[in-house]
Amino acid sequence: SREKLLEECGGSIPVERHPDVRPRSACVEATRRAIDLARRSGAHLHICHISTADELQLIKEAKAEGVKVTAETCPQYLLFDRNDFDRLGARIKCNPAIKDSSDRIALLRELLPGGVIDTIATDHAPHLLSQKEGDALTAASGMPMVQFSLRAMLELLDTESELQTAGPERIAELMAHNPARLLGLDRRGFIREGYYADLVLLEPSSQTAIPSKVTDAEVAGRCGWTPLAGMSLTPKVRTTFVNGTEAYDRGTFATPHGSPLRFTSGTSSDGKE
Ligand SMILES: [Zn+2]
Repeated sequence: SREKLLEECGGSIPVERHPDVRPRSACVEATRRAIDLARRSGAHLHICHISTADELQLIKEAKAEGVKVTAETCPQYLLFDRNDFDRLGARIKCNPAIKDSSDRIALLRELLPGGVIDTIATDHAPHLLSQKEGDALTAASGMPMVQFSLRAMLELLDTESELQTAGPERIAELMAHNPARLLGLDRRGFIREGYYADLVLLEPSSQTAIPSKVTDAEVAGRCGWTPLAGMSLTPKVRTTFVNGTEAYDRGTFATPHGSPLRFTSGTSSDGKE
């Protein structure tokens, strides 16, 4: 318990003990209860931020049983494990907590087609570094993840043997197609005639033979840091279009042109269109 940990640590729990403050058992219990409610009600349950192998197993069994459940994880659970607290400290403190290396590997495996994970989101939380100071109880939870999420996922495709059989099409499915299907987003999430052009153009790999290391200085948001600083991310974004308008091109941002997301009636809950 938290009290026991506080006593054991002499009044301040170091950040690397965050996975003990927010333990695996809490994740598993919460997911088990939610699945049980979905089973009894027939409602569609979408579970966010999966961080443990145990939950993957519960969801796999529920899906096989016909319970309407879909699952999301985030790049931080695929990139980091608790050994990384030594290097990154509170930068990787988030909720649910980053877990063990075996959880990370299990999550990677379930990204493959037919796996338990349906979508990748980011849980983007751009706290200032000053808010990330403190211990496992006082440092702010969450990290800025949205800017490098696509590049990080594509990099994992190249570097993780678990993803050897997956291609970039699978990343598009997890990050664009499936979220649009699950939310019933009107004319988004696919490259199709008549759809909103929300597009990312990547540099051809021949032009990025030298992997570039991410730096805090590249962060576009006001927080000014990223937990990925120092990581090599070979895939580079060249241009981004939002609603058909250029929003970013080779280091320069344009004035954003927002437009409301619309949802189609009769949102499908089975992941099919
Ligand atoms: Zn969240």
